[in-house]
Formats: sequence, C-alpha cells, structure tokens
Amino acid sequence: MSGGQAQLMWDEAVTGYDFGPGHPMDPVRLALTMRLVEAYGLDRAVRTVSAAAAGESTLRLVHRADYIAAVRAASADPRAADGSYGIGTVDDPAFAGMHDAAALIAGQSVAAAEAVWRGEALHAVNFSGGLHHAMPGGASGFCVYNDAALAVARLLELGAQRVVYVDVDVHHGDGVQAVFWDDPRVLTISLHEHPRTLFPQTGWPEETGGAQAEGTAVNVALPAGTGDAGWLRAFHAVVPELLAAFRPEVLVTQHGADTHFEDPLAHLAVSVDAQRLVAEACHRLAHDHAGAAGSRWAAGVRGGGGRAAVVDPPGGHRGGAAGRPGVPRAGGVAQRSVPSDPAVGAVADDGRPAARLAGLRGVRVRPRRPARSGDPGDPPGRLPLPRAPSVGRRGLLMPAVGPAVGRVR
Ligand SMILES: [Zn+2]
Repeated sequence: MSGGQAQLMWDEAVTGYDFGPGHPMDPVRLALTMRLVEAYGLDRAVRTVSAAAAGESTLRLVHRADYIAAVRAASADPRAADGSYGIGTVDDPAFAGMHDAAALIAGQSVAAAEAVWRGEALHAVNFSGGLHHAMPGGASGFCVYNDAALAVARLLELGAQRVVYVDVDVHHGDGVQAVFWDDPRVLTISLHEHPRTLFPQTGWPEETGGAQAEGTAVNVALPAGTGDAGWLRAFHAVVPELLAAFRPEVLVTQHGADTHFEDPLAHLAVSVDAQRLVAEACHRLAHDHAGAAGSRWAAGVRGGGGRAAVVDPPGGHRGGAAGRPGVPRAGGVAQRSVPSDPAVGAVADDGRPAARLAGLRGVRVRPRRPARSGDPGDPPGRLPLPRAPSVGRRGLLMPAVGPAVGRVR
C-alpha cells in the first residue's frame, strides 16, 4: 500500500492511559503493538501521524460537561474521584493525568475520522482506541472517553449523513450504541459474546434502535465458546448485507482483540487468523460501500484484557477465569497452533514474555500480580446494567434488511 492511502495514528504518550499494576488493560500492549508495526516496517508503508488530544468542544460532542469536569478533577487529584461517574472504581481507577491520556487517545480517533472524511487518507487506524463502553455521563469497562463514538460524532459534525459502525470486540459496543440510539444517520452493528455470560450484559438482539431510528442498532449475540467458523459466519452473514442496504459514506470499525481464545476475561475462542480475516473483510467492504470515491475506513483496535495474542503474561491471571461459565481455555496445544505468523509466534508460544520480548526495543514488561477475583467480566460491586430499551421482541437480527442470515458471500 502506498503512502497517503493509509494513516496510522500513534503518540507514545497514549501509553499513559494506565490504570495501574494488576489492572487487566495494560498499556504495554500498545507499545508492543507499535514495536511489531516497526518490526514489520509497516510504519514506513503508511503515514504515521500524532494528533493533538481532543479538546473540550470535541469531547462535548459525546460527553456531558459535568462528567468531563469530574474526569479532570480526578485527573488532577485521583483521591477526589467521584464514583458516581464510574471513576475511582475497580474497573476504572482514577490516576493522575487520566483526562489527558484519555483525551489523547480520543484525539487520535477523531483525527483519523477527519483525515478519512477529508480525503487526506483512504483509511486510518488508531490501535490505542476502541474505548466503546464509555457513556456520555460516565466511565465504564476500562473506558473513560468514548473515542469511537467521538469519531462518529465528528463525522456527523463534518456533514456525514450515513455512518456505519461495526464493532467486533468480544464485548457489546454499548457506549456507541447508546450515543446514537436515536440517530438514524448511524447504523451500529455489534458482534459479541452473549450478554447472559459477559459484561456489559447488553447487546440483546431485540435492541434495534430508538423510536426515530428503528433498525439502526444491530446486535449479534454469540454463545460462549464460539470459534472461528461461527464468528466468521456471523460476520459474513450479517455485515455485508447491512452495509449494502445502508450505503454508508464512512465505515468506522472497532477490532477489540478480546475475542481471542486466550483472552482471560471472555469466552469466545477466535484465532488471530480469523481476526485478520475480519479486518480484511472490513477493508474490502469499505472499498465496496463506503464513500462516493469508495473506501473511507477509520478503525480502532482495542486490546481489552486480550493482549494474549501478543504477549501472554507469565501465569497467574488466567486463574481469574475460574468460576466463569465453562468454556475450554486455550492450553499449550492451542498456543502452539498460533504462530503461523512469525511475529506473533515470536512472543506468544510459551507464555513467557520477558524472554520473548528480548528483540523488541524499549519495552518494559511490568510484572503482573494475579488478577482480582472480580476481574472476569463482572467486577465486584458492579451491578448489571439495565438492558437497553427494547422495542419489542422481533426474533430478527436485521429488521430492515430482509433475510440475510445464512447468505454468505
Ligand atoms: Zn472488549
């Protein structure tokens, strides 16, 4: 791919988004990802851009002023965190500089959307983004500012009339869905583990959009244990037809890596190879459907707890999955099946990152303590969120698009 077609958003300071030792979402995954990018020479094949942090007016496209003020206050003095905004909680502990780090990540996604909309780049990616659980008025699920929703909101502000958001993270893209619930200009599609077994307990098939936007929220809830075949079938059976019907000007995608079979907090059993196929499919779909000139695509990638595909922490945290619904965890055999990709295999096949990372420059791997018992999905103290307003059971995933299930392109 020639320079100018794709744009990579990266500022090393995004690794300041750090909830502290023992938290499942460790920013080392971002540094490691960038080192992999460099090792492949991808940073020379695409334009690498560092954008400014999202400012107040941009954050306000999605977030309430009182919430932003609460994040700023916690950022200045973490002891002052106001738990009623979801900050200072087990999932989202307050830390110094929290506002700046979260706004910097949001700024990368917003700039990615701007570059794609303005034609400065055909595609743009922010792999530090995808913080899709953040709500207009509160932090949730490791997410402070919803960079994905902000990117979509910025596209609308710039004049976009039809945006499709595809979220293949193992968790429901609840924050993005909530923000655009009543907005017919945005079609949100989320493939995720069934809400019965995973945070945030939303993303039921009957969640289809608000009264003025019925049919513009699509949820495909997959049973725990779903592997590559089922996951890919769900994607191919649903997403292409929806894009063909909705005809977006821009495609925004979220590629949370936590569908991976080794993810310690969730229960799908997807491989890196299947994740790559979905990314490639999104790329093709952007060319087929997005934009008059085709191919406007802004992507965010979120690791969730799922940095396992890059680095498997040395023991311990997998114990956090104990007591979850019974899904086979990846063992040595499955791990050894991964490294058809030399760079991934170089760090993933024995679960000992320190030795495996010797060749990666400038990356410190923080020792991890075993996860809290509450880490898996349902942290202690978290009440299940109420289900999103239902517009009635339909038994159909795609109310507006006809019988797409079963047709695979
Ligand atoms: Zn996730």
